[in-house]
Amino acid sequence: MNALFPAPIELSGQASEPSGTLVRRRLPLLGGGGGLQRKLIAAAPSATPSKAPPPPRSVRVSVTDRCDFACTYCRPSHRDGYVDGRLQLGVWRNMFEGLKKAGVRRVRLTGGEPLIHPEIVAIVRELSQLGFEDIALTTNASQLAHLAKPLFEAGLHRINISIDTLDPKRFEEVTRGGNLTKVLAGVDAALEAGFAPIKLNTVVLRGVNDDEIESILLWAWERRMLPRFLEVMPIAEGAKLVREHLVPVAEMRVRLAPHLVSDEARVDPGLGPAKYVASRRDPSLRVGFISGTSDTYCDTCDRLRVSSQGVLRPCLATDDGVDASAEAIGGDLHGITRRIAEAWTKKPDGEVWKGCTEETAAHVSMRAIGG
Ligand code: SAM
Ligand code: SF4
Repeated sequence: MNALFPAPIELSGQASEPSGTLVRRRLPLLGGGGGLQRKLIAAAPSATPSKAPPPPRSVRVSVTDRCDFACTYCRPSHRDGYVDGRLQLGVWRNMFEGLKKAGVRRVRLTGGEPLIHPEIVAIVRELSQLGFEDIALTTNASQLAHLAKPLFEAGLHRINISIDTLDPKRFEEVTRGGNLTKVLAGVDAALEAGFAPIKLNTVVLRGVNDDEIESILLWAWERRMLPRFLEVMPIAEGAKLVREHLVPVAEMRVRLAPHLVSDEARVDPGLGPAKYVASRRDPSLRVGFISGTSDTYCDTCDRLRVSSQGVLRPCLATDDGVDASAEAIGGDLHGITRRIAEAWTKKPDGEVWKGCTEETAAHVSMRAIGG
């Protein structure tokens, strides 16, 4: 425990005005099935936790909010705007040093589409030189065919590839113009480069791609990849899709039951909210499920996010944040750690906060915050 993250202070009672009012109400996006949820409204993100959360160990960095796709659940169109003022490479180095000093061990690069950042390989190299325990990246793989090997050689440890369908026409529709052939070439290049296991992210949408979960599972297992099926979350454009297109994880499990052992799904400790189940035929193969809508997991979240402009964000589901760009530009490492501690005090209380099902989530940009 360092001076910036002092020992937890026990506070009596619940969060109160003006930081938020505890109410019980029905989650509108889930209709009747959502049930009653304890929930903070108004300035809810700053709801004071009953005890201070442990300092951030894991960070997601949106290196760019730009993207060559406009997936229906993420982005309204290719014409929506981008933010100004992205950090330069040297400034990222300072930011990463500050994060390391504050105790961060794991970094995931994301976006937007991280691979369209012109200096993505150099950014990975910086992280590698700083000796982070885990350096990972999430990508749509459109540029991976030529970048997989350079990224691996620069020190990237793990890669997650988002792929929602294996049907080229559907792929073009869901991503608004994406080319499946290029993405599949990216998957092959990542396998050849030596990434293992490669995790796949598939957002399951009823009536769009839910008839493919079995074929995607088997396709991934044939290549010894780790498929993960995500519920669409009511965040950003996803907020418009949940009511009609949500497939709860419980239903996905039932549909895939013939391929899976019947054990309870388990998390990989320290590696995010996905819960994994093994294959019935080969226990070395697994599938993951991420229930960001039907069963939120804020109580276990130890993530901080950094936007492409250098704003530290304690939660994906709010626009709350603390700007650390001036400190990063000035190379003020102590200042960065102070900003991190400040941002961390804004982390919503996971005991009551319901993440991407909170009303604030519909108004954030997943690309800018770093999905
Ligand atoms: N562009 C990269 C990609 O697509 O992998 C990285 C950024 S993207 C925002 C990160 C992940 O968030 C992707 O796997 C994407 O499918 C997921 N995602 C985006 N919007 C979502 C939503 N509303 N519900 C569930 N997952 C979502
Ligand atoms: Fe781009 Fe990823 Fe969002 Fe799709 S999910 S629009 S690829 S940032």
